[in-house]
Amino acid sequence: MSTQCPYCSVQCSMELTEERIITRKRFKAKPNKLDPTSQGRLCMKGVNAHQHVINGERVTHPLLKIDGEFVRVPWELVNEYIAAQFNEIQSEFGNDAIGVYGGGSLTNEEAYLLGKFARVALKTKHIDYNGRFCMSAAASAGNAAFGIDRGLTNSLEEIPDAKCIILAGTNIADCQPTIMPYFRKAKKNGAFIIVIDPRVTGTSKLADLHLQVKPGMDSSVANGMLKVIYEKGLINKEFIENRTNDFETVKHDLDSIDLEKMAALSGVPVDQITQAALAYGKAETGFIFTARGVEQHANGYENVRQFINLVLATGKIGKYACGYGAITGQGNGQGGREHGQKADQLPGYRSIENDEHRKYIADVWGVEETTLPRKGVSAYELMEKVDEGEIQGMFIMASNPVVSNPNAILVEKALQKLKFLVVVDMFISETARLADLILPSSSYLEDEGTMTNLEGRVVLRQAERPKPDEAKHDWEILRDLAGTLGYQSYFSYESAEDIFNELRIASKGGIADYYGITYNRIREQGIFWPCPDENHHGTSRLFDDTFVHGDGKALFYPLQRAIVEKSNESYPLSLTTGRLMEHYLTGVQTRRSSELLKRAKEPLLEVHPDTAFRYNIQDGELVELRSPQGTMVIRSKFTETIRKDTIFAPFHWGDSQCINRVIKPLLDPFCKMPAFKVCSVTISPLIVKNPLKNNDLVHEAVD
Ligand code: SF4
Repeated sequence: MSTQCPYCSVQCSMELTEERIITRKRFKAKPNKLDPTSQGRLCMKGVNAHQHVINGERVTHPLLKIDGEFVRVPWELVNEYIAAQFNEIQSEFGNDAIGVYGGGSLTNEEAYLLGKFARVALKTKHIDYNGRFCMSAAASAGNAAFGIDRGLTNSLEEIPDAKCIILAGTNIADCQPTIMPYFRKAKKNGAFIIVIDPRVTGTSKLADLHLQVKPGMDSSVANGMLKVIYEKGLINKEFIENRTNDFETVKHDLDSIDLEKMAALSGVPVDQITQAALAYGKAETGFIFTARGVEQHANGYENVRQFINLVLATGKIGKYACGYGAITGQGNGQGGREHGQKADQLPGYRSIENDEHRKYIADVWGVEETTLPRKGVSAYELMEKVDEGEIQGMFIMASNPVVSNPNAILVEKALQKLKFLVVVDMFISETARLADLILPSSSYLEDEGTMTNLEGRVVLRQAERPKPDEAKHDWEILRDLAGTLGYQSYFSYESAEDIFNELRIASKGGIADYYGITYNRIREQGIFWPCPDENHHGTSRLFDDTFVHGDGKALFYPLQRAIVEKSNESYPLSLTTGRLMEHYLTGVQTRRSSELLKRAKEPLLEVHPDTAFRYNIQDGELVELRSPQGTMVIRSKFTETIRKDTIFAPFHWGDSQCINRVIKPLLDPFCKMPAFKVCSVTISPLIVKNPLKNNDLVHEAVD
């Protein structure tokens, strides 16, 4: 079977063989050497991805909750039932009383269709998705600075020739391990590698210089670096003059930047900030990459803009081995945000508030422009609207918001207030557990469709196995339900390719233009967007001649100070959260892969032994972790290399081990990204009055 890993944004392709040994099935994954992105590599998640597909816990029939129990219900009744419930809610409370919540792992076709389903079949403005928590800060910063949001401005193959690389708040070694060799090769070729991260990670071990910044203070490092670059005459005046606007504001702000102060704020000594600035400023070529460490803050948008300032000031963009990249997390984090499942967007990265854009999409969909809703609210704000009773019914597809949202305790309680909740998933996730109705969806081995990887390369994933029992593809679920709601003629697709061909037209002329990409063109290898016609080869490097703003110029942004919540006597530690190599997102799939679970069966709290001593905590002991928002339980793991004022916990578990129970709902005002990366907390040994049962803490896989 030729397939590709369903997890992270690299989308590594592989050959998966299945053999039967007596009664047992054995799968073997072999990486595809011809894959231009992974170049023949797979990480442990890709090798074991098939395990969740064959897991005995798969939901393979529609399940209706009756008397508190899920019972099978035939598909014939399902759509009528949903339509009746949604109609009743909408006639009493209005169209916007239904919320739709999607995911960044959906194929482009399904993400596109979910947006169309919400706007055409449900006529609700309330649609958003979990990608809000992944890429919104970098996406909004890229749009504002360059006029376009594509994760990487260049293809990965240019990385080995860069002379200086800054990796800010990104742990590629654990999160996108198969692209690490690009950076190793760059180092071998003489590149100076700078990692900015509070933790020592597999990525920081590659660094020539590791700036162990305080969580949330990355922009102080960036601004200190810009000050040095400017004062040492390392800015690229010609580039600034010809290709950018607003440098004067930045120059003015630089006067107020005091290096000693930046060092004190960030915890990074002046000499290290200077060394980083000189290395990047003097290098002939270079890249800056950011990820969630910089982005998941209440000022994530502004943090990213500070790093883009460095790129623009040195003119390291729009040419070979020079550029900026936001390393996407989710499998289709890039494509998922381009085609309309975001509250403010229409396909092709069009704006739902732009009249011309609205008219174009309304024509493609064959509806009146006036019937299209305006923009709704962001993912977490949807949950607040549920809590407040403004949203009374919800349709959740490929997402587990009970675990992934900040303020998870409120989110869980809010969803329980809904009059009607439909969840489309492969498993009874922490969110599906709360549903009135669960609809069984197909897996990556069964569902055909395109994904857009972290480079902006659109690739085709083919279906290789039949769907089990009564499971349906997400697009079939949407098509059939739209039909029952009375919109059959708008959703008459027979295949994912049909949907893609409509998406091509819907994206035509938009910023994310897929019009020239066809299934036939990408059966062997993907194509970078924008690709405006079928003779176009795609655009692997952006901005060679011009940026996308009207005058072709990129924009600087005023220098900002980091704004982070101050720790206090009651909550003196900085909690930062993130990923493990073994797991993906909220772990619904990877916790059901026996090999992955064996390697990481529960979350561990990384804590410095000196910090643990202060709190009377032993290594390997269960710890109560508290913020004013809530409490969770986690086992400690002593880590000499973490800052003493910082602790780290992964976010792949639910229930008592859900780290988002303690995360406050502080949202970035520009992009509504929650501040997952820094939260003031305290810890204490768990006092076991009522011992927790094992299965409260460890989710066993069954396959
Ligand atoms: Fe590749 Fe990412 Fe899957 Fe690992 S998780 S195999 S890096 S796509």
